[in-house]
Amino acid sequence: MRFDIMTLFPELVDRVLGESIIGRAQNSGACEIKTYNIRDYSEDKHRRVDDTPYGGGKGMLMAAPPIYRCYRAVLDEQVRAGYDGRRHVIYMSPAGRVLTQKVAEELAAKYDNLIILCGHYEGVDRRIVEEIVDEELSIGDYVLTGGEIPACILVDCVARLTDGVLSAAECYENESISSGMLEYPQYTRPVEYHGMKVPAVLLSGDHAKIDKWRYEEALALTRRQRPDLLPEELRGETDADGSDKN
Ligand code: SAM
Repeated sequence: MRFDIMTLFPELVDRVLGESIIGRAQNSGACEIKTYNIRDYSEDKHRRVDDTPYGGGKGMLMAAPPIYRCYRAVLDEQVRAGYDGRRHVIYMSPAGRVLTQKVAEELAAKYDNLIILCGHYEGVDRRIVEEIVDEELSIGDYVLTGGEIPACILVDCVARLTDGVLSAAECYENESISSGMLEYPQYTRPVEYHGMKVPAVLLSGDHAKIDKWRYEEALALTRRQRPDLLPEELRGETDADGSDKN
């Protein structure tokens, strides 16, 4: 999977995505992440990329022309690199479809290349969205100062679904949300910590019992904390304080 990120703060994005699992995935070639500084495509002598909104109002808007030139540069770079994947252009925006694990899975399955536009200030001139963007995506119902953190979140959760990014040990299949439930509680050494012991079943070596315990714990936790994830017949009853009656 290839990601091309258009932003005013490429160092921020490079720093976040250059670490840990996603950083290693880039080094191994499992995914490719390129950042482009929209300011490099300003034709203003002071490298300005923003201006006041028509009709008045507070704040500044990112103008369309530098973003468009940056977008063309991304496409040119792809041609030079001989890249020809299934492409999808996304604008990170609080007004977009909300990113969920399902959306991430859909994007990972359908596309080989996400081109991501990060807004800043009051956002971007609407015309650039209409011209180049296939989809607006939000990371949740709150407003941030810029699209860089949302873009990193999007790249992280789509990239880790791509072949070769996670090792078998880091596999996502039984995780919260992906499995349809929250994940069961997990423990590692020491066996006793501050008076709290690891549940005996996990030390039993009986894998059938362990699987059953994990399923029941995951179900109880999901009923308590996120019953909305469960089909009606599995929701069970919970007390007013959220504790599981089943
Ligand atoms: N004026 C815009 C509005 O009311 O929709 C908000 C602009 S916001 C201050 C600046 C930029 O941050 C946006 O252009 C977008 O790229 C990014 N952003 C802020 N909140 C976001 C969210 N929840 N999801 C994705 N991107 C977000």
